[in-house]
Amino acid sequence: MALPAYPASPFPDLPAALVTGAASPRGIGRATAHRLAREGWAVAVVDLDGGACAELAGELTERYGVPALGLGVDISDEQAVADAVARIDAELPQLVGVVNNAGISSPTPFTEVSTEEWRRVFDVNVHGTFFVTREAVAIFRRHSLGRIVNISSASAERGGGVYGRAAYSGSKAALLGMAKTWARELGEYGITANSVAPGSIDTDIMGGRLTDERKQVLLQELPVGRVGTVDDVAGAVHYLLGRDGGYLTGVTLDVNGGSHIH
Ligand code: NAP
Repeated sequence: MALPAYPASPFPDLPAALVTGAASPRGIGRATAHRLAREGWAVAVVDLDGGACAELAGELTERYGVPALGLGVDISDEQAVADAVARIDAELPQLVGVVNNAGISSPTPFTEVSTEEWRRVFDVNVHGTFFVTREAVAIFRRHSLGRIVNISSASAERGGGVYGRAAYSGSKAALLGMAKTWARELGEYGITANSVAPGSIDTDIMGGRLTDERKQVLLQELPVGRVGTVDDVAGAVHYLLGRDGGYLTGVTLDVNGGSHIH
């Protein structure tokens, strides 16, 4: 019996990508938006702070000459996500990639975490990713081409991270399962789905940069001998989204400097 073939449509000369949680000044999302724009992608950036997103979009267009759109969206708000993705579809070139980067952490031990905190973490990290991806996939299916990248975490793989406890790790593990399922279910539409699982990256997610003391502790578990940067993650995302990423689906790239090898 012949196996089914699902050829994706050709990659457009000017693809667009949507990056969530991109406004954070020293965050992974902003670095990813810059990396994609530098490589010739049109970029839509969404985050809670609409003003910061609009400013970032202007910066991307000015610096790299690509179309960009910045919108204030709470990704846990289903309708707001639908409205934003409709605008992105109408105003930017063909949407090819979505980077589910927006996320919140939860350092609270399991025995102390409240229902409210648990729900909020899942509302943003899991349900928000579901809402964004569902809208993006509808567009990808129209074009028979799409790339999904979930930003998970080493915390999901090793059972808690440097900061993240059960709510965070559970939500990030959900992203791994979702990406693998999308990889199976959506392949026939020319869509790939993968995850990136960063280790400790020096950002503001826990309310400030890593202290030198903290870095020294982390270094003891890092075979590459340095703490990760936002550009390390952005490079992996760009690879998975780009032309060369088309035969990777359902994989998790561990961008963790060897802190967790499995
Ligand atoms: P970050 O600097 O805090 O960036 C996350 C961004 O997401 C922030 O701008 C945040 O806005 C935004 N956001 C939060 N809730 C949102 C919502 N409901 N709707 C839209 N945007 C929302 O963190 P980061 O370190 O760059 O992390 C980016 C992603 O990588 C996260 O998913 C994180 O879990 C993951 N990650 C990070 C590390 C690390 O070591 N840094 C390791 C593994 C995985 P506000 O700042 O206004 O809340």
